[in-house]
Amino acid sequence: MITVSQVRKNYGDFVALDGVTLDIPSGSLTALLGPSGSGKSTLLRSIAGLESPDAGIITINGEDVTGITPQKRGIGFVFQHYAAFKHMTVRDNIAFGLRIRKRPKAEIKERVDELLRIVGLDGFQMRYPAQLSGGQRQRMALARALAVDPKVLLLDEPFGALDAKVRADLREWLRRLHDEVHVTTVLVTHDQEEALDVADRIAVMNRGNIEQVGSPDDLYERPANDFVMSFLGPVA
Ligand code: ATP
Ligand code: MG
Repeated sequence: MITVSQVRKNYGDFVALDGVTLDIPSGSLTALLGPSGSGKSTLLRSIAGLESPDAGIITINGEDVTGITPQKRGIGFVFQHYAAFKHMTVRDNIAFGLRIRKRPKAEIKERVDELLRIVGLDGFQMRYPAQLSGGQRQRMALARALAVDPKVLLLDEPFGALDAKVRADLREWLRRLHDEVHVTTVLVTHDQEEALDVADRIAVMNRGNIEQVGSPDDLYERPANDFVMSFLGPVA
């Protein structure tokens, strides 16, 4: 469980997070959905420890993480443009975090084999990142983030740069992966279809606030206000 309580973040005079309060249940796949500039990435980066809030408290599994470095928060992070190690094979990229933690070789092999299967890259392990498609690269990024058993997986528009068909495939992958691994996942997106399709909970953000939190059905059937309605409504 992640709790975000009265979190504020200003950039100069600009209020990026205006006292955000949000509970993210363990094992959920929660989407932060909102227009550009609404504070989604700022909130995600605050959970990750890449940004320090000006006020408020964030806890991960009951522990106040104020002052705790990103490395010690037990987080896996995937960004829109994933930076892979270009000189390393897919297998070595996925194994990287386990190697720096000096896990035994046999354990690394077993774990990486399992992850290659989960993200559907079994046949690609000896390729280099440049020899993968964009969607395959993001799947490798997911596997790499998951390798070290993070408590929390944070995804900031991980499929944003890809075309619609590949994005739809990756949503399907993410859903299946989450069903199998059950890691608490927070997905940032400005795409309502993506959120409705993949998340079990959606928090709708607007101007540094959360307008509504609920299941996709709740939000679609019972939007709390005009903003949520217009943001989730038919896009035709
Ligand atoms: P997008 O969908 O475009 O990624 P977002 O919802 O992720 O948007 P944020 O990146 O969280 O939005 O930014 C929220 C607001 O804070 C924006 O208006 C942005 O310009 C501002 N902001 C973010 N980071 C900084 C920064 N380092 N310095 C100044 N302003 C910032
Ligand atoms: Mg963003």
